[in-house]
Amino acid sequence: MNRENRLRKLRHEMKAKGLEAVFVQSPENRYYLSGFRGSSGALLITETDALLYTDFRYLDQAAEEAPLFEVVNHQQNLMTMICTRLQDETLRHVGIELDKLPTAQYLAFNRLAPTLELSNVEPILDRIRMYKDAEEIAYLRQGIAMCDQAFAHILSYIKPGITEKEIGLELEFFMRKLGAEGIKANHVIASGERSSLPHGQATDRVIRVGDFVKMDIGARVMGYYSDFTRTVVVGQPSAKQLEIYQIVKEAQEAALAAIGPGKVCSEVDEVARSIIRAAGYGDCFGHSLGHSIGLAVHEKPTMRHNDQTVLEPGMVITVEPGIYIKGFGGVRIEDLVVITADGYDNLTTATKELQVIPV
Ligand code: ZN
Repeated sequence: MNRENRLRKLRHEMKAKGLEAVFVQSPENRYYLSGFRGSSGALLITETDALLYTDFRYLDQAAEEAPLFEVVNHQQNLMTMICTRLQDETLRHVGIELDKLPTAQYLAFNRLAPTLELSNVEPILDRIRMYKDAEEIAYLRQGIAMCDQAFAHILSYIKPGITEKEIGLELEFFMRKLGAEGIKANHVIASGERSSLPHGQATDRVIRVGDFVKMDIGARVMGYYSDFTRTVVVGQPSAKQLEIYQIVKEAQEAALAAIGPGKVCSEVDEVARSIIRAAGYGDCFGHSLGHSIGLAVHEKPTMRHNDQTVLEPGMVITVEPGIYIKGFGGVRIEDLVVITADGYDNLTTATKELQVIPV
């Protein structure tokens, strides 16, 4: 397992920042560091100790899933036990997940241990999580393979008369049958003029001849999300549909060609954006080119104008330009790639040629 490595990296950063302990309770960071997948628990990590506090329901599971951690039954007294331990060991400077910590726990720290100095540990954890190891990449690859297969399947399912919700359900059912443990929460199934909504959720809208159908889907495998978007057209495309599809495809392929180790996120974003801008649709591409992904759908770095992160091997990013025209429709094409030592590995294999659903 790679979790010894993750703990080593965290302790290294703790030392550099003068953090004497780190308190982790978000499900994804808890799982990332310990392996524990129960719904309730918290980690306390110091230079020498790794403790997993959970309750009676999860004691056996925690011991099995988190062998690097000493499992403690908190008996519904989590914050009292944590604060007592910190004070007994005179640990003052504690890292917490400032964005994710429930307010009640933050207030409990202040009430039970007012002398603690609390700092945000999330930037440290975000940075460690940026670099995916072989096991994580294998889960992402499995998830994208499910998306690829679901897309191939849905091409013969889409037809005029069915609804966006039916398409969404069929995609989910298909991926679950392939072994996905879940799907990403914001599946986008948006058709016709609704396809101009970048994150339009499936509705009862009925598919008609001439519609774009934009599908942004993701399977979850061992906690890891994948992200995949393709846009198809029902019946023969109009000249304008062909035009904007070609521009998005060109922008997406140019961005991929510009990706690799040493490349800067903002510069790759600009490669795609400048193509869309030059074609006259700059105002119709209002989101970033992409993002990293893993235990959360959106992780760091982000492929946008103000993110100067330099891409390095092991980082994974989505490449997903789009053009969205209100009242007309929209197109997005999204691949998921892993940065390698000499370029990138595109996990997504589905065709990017515009798929025309026969009617
Ligand atoms: Zn995405």
